[in-house]
Amino acid sequence: MGITCENCGAPAQPGVLKCTYCQRPVSAELARHAIPCPHCQEPNLWGAQKCVRCQAWIVVQCVFCGGVSPHNQTACLNCKEPFAGAPERKAQRQAQQQSQQNAQTAAVVGNVAASFLGAVAGGIIGGILDD
Ligand SMILES: [Zn+2]
Ligand SMILES: [Zn+2]
Ligand SMILES: [Zn+2]
Repeated sequence: MGITCENCGAPAQPGVLKCTYCQRPVSAELARHAIPCPHCQEPNLWGAQKCVRCQAWIVVQCVFCGGVSPHNQTACLNCKEPFAGAPERKAQRQAQQQSQQNAQTAAVVGNVAASFLGAVAGGIIGGILDD
């Protein structure tokens, strides 16, 4: 099962947007979602990872979720994180998480110390009552 060129009716090559006969996009719908190669400008089908003509990568990997999105997108298709400044934002977020974890650890240590002090106080009171 394949698609045929909308313009000339020739069978379209799988994964190739441009008709080999008339050199026009085999489908206007597919052309609308085409990803231009950053290297050779060849339009590639949505969902392709490498350029059909020069094999250059036409997708970028998200630093947050590792998902790949076409290079002409401004944000990750998977987690919606904008690509602009993404590595810096990730570093910032990790630093934030780190300090949050430190704060949580301090809170836990604080609780343990409080209950320890409470037990000691209880022991002293118990000792007094025993007398
Ligand atoms: Zn054609
Ligand atoms: Zn290319
Ligand atoms: Zn992502």
